[in-house]
Amino acid sequence: MTYVVTENCIRCKYMDCVEVCPVDCFYVGENMLVINPDECIDCGVCEPECPAEAIFPDSDSRAAAWAEKNATFAASWPNITRKGTAPADADEWNNKPGKAELFSPEPGTP
Ligand code: SF4
Ligand code: SF4
Repeated sequence: MTYVVTENCIRCKYMDCVEVCPVDCFYVGENMLVINPDECIDCGVCEPECPAEAIFPDSDSRAAAWAEKNATFAASWPNITRKGTAPADADEWNNKPGKAELFSPEPGTP
């Protein structure tokens, strides 16, 4: 089992999750984060910390569409261990529908 970052992380990137992960298994893209399923120890600590409620265990049906993306991009994006500055418009994007099509495959800056 692993935890999975899903659509509502896009353009939010509050990054509270990276501060609490005991094994530093978050990776950063241009507009969202992902979890490396091979490094995640399934502790669940990050799930309640995400203000966007974007993190689910892979046993949850809401994680299914994003599990492969987390695995794929965790392999190429840089590791992130410290909370950065969220975008100024992050709150406006929280819970906006249809964000999946805005997903960027480009790596972000830790
Ligand atoms: S706290 Fe949630 S929305 Fe923010 S970066 Fe982490 S997973 Fe994404
Ligand atoms: S479940 Fe635990 S190990 Fe996995 S990403 Fe969240 S905090 Fe890190």
